[in-house]
Amino acid sequence: NFIMTNRTGIAGVRAREVLDSRGNPTVEVDVRLECGAFGRAIVPPGASTGRHEAVELRDGDPMRYEGKGTLRAVAGVNDIIGPALRGRADAADQSDLDDRLCRLDGTAGKSNLGANAILGVSLAAAHAAAAAEDVPLYRHIAGLVGNGDGDGNGSGDGAVGRSLPMPMVNIISGGRHASGGLDMQDFLAIPIGAATYRDALRMAVAVYRAVGRILSQTGPYAYGVADEGGYGPPLPCHEDALGLLYDAARLAGYRCAADGDIAIGIDVAATEFMTGDGRYALAAEGRSFTAAELADLLAHWRVAYPIISIEDGLGEDDWDGWQYLTDRLGASTQLIGDDLFTTNPQRLARGADAGIANAVLVKPNQIGTLTETLATIRLAQERGYRPVISARSGETEDTTIADLAVGTGAGQIKIGSVTRSERLAKYNRLLRIEEELGDAGRFAGRDAFAGLDLVK
Ligand code: PGA
Ligand code: ZN
Repeated sequence: NFIMTNRTGIAGVRAREVLDSRGNPTVEVDVRLECGAFGRAIVPPGASTGRHEAVELRDGDPMRYEGKGTLRAVAGVNDIIGPALRGRADAADQSDLDDRLCRLDGTAGKSNLGANAILGVSLAAAHAAAAAEDVPLYRHIAGLVGNGDGDGNGSGDGAVGRSLPMPMVNIISGGRHASGGLDMQDFLAIPIGAATYRDALRMAVAVYRAVGRILSQTGPYAYGVADEGGYGPPLPCHEDALGLLYDAARLAGYRCAADGDIAIGIDVAATEFMTGDGRYALAAEGRSFTAAELADLLAHWRVAYPIISIEDGLGEDDWDGWQYLTDRLGASTQLIGDDLFTTNPQRLARGADAGIANAVLVKPNQIGTLTETLATIRLAQERGYRPVISARSGETEDTTIADLAVGTGAGQIKIGSVTRSERLAKYNRLLRIEEELGDAGRFAGRDAFAGLDLVK
C-alpha cells in the first residue's frame, strides 16, 4: 500500500483564498505528507501579463472582489486535485506530481483548473518535500536540478544550490504599476560592482534613498510607492527617469557605469503600449514609433547611459522587431524576454533557434508548475540564455523565488524595489541563505553578465 510505504506520499491538500499586495485575491495551498511534513505556497498575480501565459482562473463574479475572486481555483484544489493526489502522489517525485497536475487539467494553457491552482499545489508540495528531508528549499531544488556530480544533492562545485543572485532593483516605476504617467514600466538599479549579495542590497537602498532626496527637492514628494515599491513620479519624459537614476547613483557616492558600481536596467514592457497598427506609443511624450524606431531609441539611450539590461524592449509577438533589436544590441546588452517567452520552453526554444533575445525572465506562474519552470531554466542555461528569476507585481509573503534563484544557480533575480514587505520578504530570505551558506556561497555578481561586452 502506497500510503504505508511512502513517508513523502501526499496525505492532504488544502487551498484557500488569500490576498496579495494589491488587496486582490489569490490562491494559497497547504500540502501535508504522510510523515507529517508540511508545505505552503502562495501564487503571485501579475498586472502586465503576457498573452501567452498559462491561465489564471478568476471567478468573474462582479459581486466579489470586482470579479477577481479565486474561489473556483480554490475549489478545484480542494475538490479535484486533492482527492486525486491523496494516497497516490509522492511529493519527493516532483516531475511525476506535476505531470499528474497537468493531466488532471488536460489543457495546454491550464485553463480548466487554473495555473494559480496548479502552481500552488506544485510549489507547496516542493516545500513539504524539503521539510520531509529536513533541508532548506534551495537545497531541495538543487537536488531536482542535479549538479552533475551524480549524488543529486546539489552540493557540487557549480553554482547550483549556492549561488546568490545579482538583484536587479526597481527604483522608478511606470506603466501599469504606477500612476505617474511613464509608459515604460521599470527603471532599475543593478549594483554591478557589489562584492556580496548583502552589499548589493545595501547599494540599491542607497540609490533608492538618493532618488527620494532628489524628488523631494524638485517637486511634491507625495508620489507614494508604486506596486513594486518604487517611486512613480510624474516625469515629462522617459529619459528623465534615466537621468534621475544616474544622478541618484552619483549622489549616493557611486560610479554609475557598466564597469563601475551601479548600472541601469529597464523593463520597457512594450506590449503594454503597442497600438493596433503594430506601432508603439509613448503617450507621456506624445510620440509614436515603429519597432525599429523604438529599438533605435533604446540603442541611443544605451550610448548615453550605462544600460546593461533591457526587458521586453518590443512587443510579445513582434518577432521581427525583436530580431532587429537583438542584432543591434544583443552583443553588448542583456535582452530579456518576459511577455515574449512567458517562461514557456516552447517559446524560448523558438527564440533561441532564431537567436532572438539573450535572457529569459522566469515567473513560475506564467507556466504553472515547478517542473516546467525548471525545464525553462535548464533550456536557457543550455542555449546560453541568462535566466532572471522574477516576482510579479502582485506579491505576498511567499519567498519561494528566492530559493528558486539559489537552487538553480540562476544568477539574477528581479523582485521589485526595496520597500513593501512582500518584496523584502524575498530580499531578506536571500540574506538568511547567504548567511547559512557562509563560505560555500558564491555571489553571482558581475559574472551574471559574462559573455556580454558591457562597456560598449
Ligand atoms: P507583472 O510585472 O507581474 O505585472 O507582469 C512584472 C514584469 O513585467 O516584469
Ligand atoms: Zn516584465
